[in-house]
Amino acid sequence: MPMSPRDFDSRAADAMADEQLQANLKKLMILLKALHRQGTGSVTNFDELRQCASAVKKHTIENLDYYLEQFESRVIEKGGKVHYAQTCEDLNVIVIEICKRRGVKTIVKGKSMVSEETGLNKALEAAAIEVTETDMGEYIVQIAHERPSHLVGPAIHKNRKEIADLFLKHHDLGPRSLKEIPEIVAEGRRVLREKFLRADAGITGANVLIAETGGVVLVTNEGNADLCSTIPKMHIVVAGIEKLVPGLEDAGAVLRVLARSLTGRAMSCYTSFLTGPREGPQYCGPEELHVVLLDNHRTEIIGSEFRDILRCIRCSSCMNHCPVFGQTGGHAYGSVYSGPMGSVLTPIMEGIENAADLPDACSSDGRCAEVCPMMIPLPDLLRRLRGKERELGISKRYMRWGISAYMTLARFPRLYRTITDAGAGALSVLGHVNKSIPYCRGRTFFSLFARQRRRSKGAGHGYRSLKQ
Ligand code: SF4
Repeated sequence: MPMSPRDFDSRAADAMADEQLQANLKKLMILLKALHRQGTGSVTNFDELRQCASAVKKHTIENLDYYLEQFESRVIEKGGKVHYAQTCEDLNVIVIEICKRRGVKTIVKGKSMVSEETGLNKALEAAAIEVTETDMGEYIVQIAHERPSHLVGPAIHKNRKEIADLFLKHHDLGPRSLKEIPEIVAEGRRVLREKFLRADAGITGANVLIAETGGVVLVTNEGNADLCSTIPKMHIVVAGIEKLVPGLEDAGAVLRVLARSLTGRAMSCYTSFLTGPREGPQYCGPEELHVVLLDNHRTEIIGSEFRDILRCIRCSSCMNHCPVFGQTGGHAYGSVYSGPMGSVLTPIMEGIENAADLPDACSSDGRCAEVCPMMIPLPDLLRRLRGKERELGISKRYMRWGISAYMTLARFPRLYRTITDAGAGALSVLGHVNKSIPYCRGRTFFSLFARQRRRSKGAGHGYRSLKQ
């Protein structure tokens, strides 16, 4: 089935029926949540760090024209070039022209969501330029001819055996055993090392762009982006315009919450600040540096009620805590961005009529907003998108009926409680019989609340003390 954000329901059903995928996702979600707890709990003031990082991005986005100009002039001062791409196609054309001018035949590439957004690899291949992903997860999905299924773990949907089989099939290295993870990783590194050494150019994304220095910040756990940006003679950075921050301290504010939210560490293994190409007798670094900045609807978003989403630093916390993503994985979303942030971004970028399923793929538990290090009100943004679907008359009939039924029921609390109690009872019975039906453990919130209130009254506290 071709990728399209329109097909969420059927993809989600397929994903939920895939036992291997379910097992992989379950393990991964437990791990990623634990890492998030570890990272955010390792400091006493994580909320202050979130506020600070969020304020930095908010200020930059409100003054983006100023910081873009400043960034461009600093990059030029350091000997680099800045290009602006209005659309995805523009970015691909610019990158291909830069490569052709220098006779580039082979490229090594670091992880870049913007390049996924624009379909850069396909465009390069169509222009007869060989491109190799060098982030191990990205490399795995590239040779599997798949798309990444997670922002930072592109191959999380695959297990060890699947990856070993893929390497055995794809690498022409004779008979060998790939039973253990270190053997698989060693083979991947061996193959990629050759690619680094003979690449004519390196392409990376950017985690942060610094206006006051013209700097590019790259964050990885494998160091592959550093090799892409320093070994080949030319380095091309592709990034969205929202990656800018004013200065070095502001970059620090973003980095403090990025790694903690994702890997649980204070800082990622490789956090590099690059400015300009190699200067004079310097031993390493590219001879040429190009930064290609992508708009692709971002300036429209700045002027809209959805501008908060531009603070997103692609840390993946929202999806790692999303019960819908935890059941379906990233491919079900049918677009580059998945999980709660993808459910906001995709309809805005691709048109709500083309992605109307996504804002509905939400349990409204609000956990995404609680864990988002940039304090993006994801549930509010999703609610606004659902409102727009309704205005346009494109929301699903069952959603319209469901919401109307809920609105009616909510006016009659007794009836509401009776029906939800009965529903919870039915689910707890059916969930035992059929695994695909959600199993309802325990009692409803209202029955627990009523019991607690009775107990408090019995103990002479009353309702007021319960509320405090
Ligand atoms: S929306 Fe927030 S939690 Fe989700 S990826 Fe972006 S910054 Fe991270």
